[in-house]
Amino acid sequence: MLSGLFSTSVAFATEVFPVRKGTVAFRGVTKRYGDNVVLNGIDLQVAAGEVLAVCGPSGSGKSTLIRLINQLETLSSGEIEVDGQPTSTLSGRSLRELRRHVGFVFQQFNLYAHLNALDNITLALRHIHGKSADDAQAIALALLARVGLQDKAHHFPSQLSGGQQQRVAIARTLAADPHIILFDEPTSALDPEMIGEVLQVMKSLAHSGITLIVVTHEMQFAREIADRVIFIDGGEILEQAAPEQFFSAPQHPRAQRFLQKVL
Ligand code: ADP
Ligand code: MG
Repeated sequence: MLSGLFSTSVAFATEVFPVRKGTVAFRGVTKRYGDNVVLNGIDLQVAAGEVLAVCGPSGSGKSTLIRLINQLETLSSGEIEVDGQPTSTLSGRSLRELRRHVGFVFQQFNLYAHLNALDNITLALRHIHGKSADDAQAIALALLARVGLQDKAHHFPSQLSGGQQQRVAIARTLAADPHIILFDEPTSALDPEMIGEVLQVMKSLAHSGITLIVVTHEMQFAREIADRVIFIDGGEILEQAAPEQFFSAPQHPRAQRFLQKVL
């Protein structure tokens, strides 16, 4: 009786007060590849608009964690909710809809080599968002300006530096007007002198309303812009804390060892 009442009131509450766009919740999420348990019962709530930094040693499951959110990987058990909706059963149109709201920025940029910067952005605007050619172009130019590349609209990826390519990739992600952007080590393929320009663009997105989940080894960046840092090792979240606390006084011995190596 009590549980019946409870579920009715929960359903009622979400109808009257819709969950704010940009939330992510992991509930007991496990991911295995064969016998290899890569993530083991992850529970994690990310608030709308939050900037979450994900760090941990190589092979600890960071990429897998964020790739699960927009189903670049499928989970083995548990559930991930995005904007309050379970995602594990989505497919076809509903999965495409999820991916529109959840952008992904890859380490290797993944631009279309045969399209210039402008067309890399207008492609989705026209074919997924149904914009006219003129509207798509206007939006794409505004986004290129936002990442400081208005003068590179007609350059092909091969004519752009790594930092510029990654900024185009971020502009392309923004074109979908996402609630959430997942970044998988967005600066680790870049020459050192180009890291700053990409971090600057990411900084400009922080606390703009979009939820950012950033796998990064840029500890200074995490310290400056993250609301919270999670440390993953062995498929588990071993520690989560505000950046000041995490970086100045990590609690878990493995987090301490990790920070000694990277700082
Ligand atoms: P990180 O991003 O922290 O370096 P990953 O999430 O890429 O770690 O990988 C975590 C573990 O999962 C590693 O042991 C890796 O070998 C394994 N793994 C990742 N992707 C696959 C895959 N497609 N098939 C099999 N094993 C994988
Ligand atoms: Mg990775």
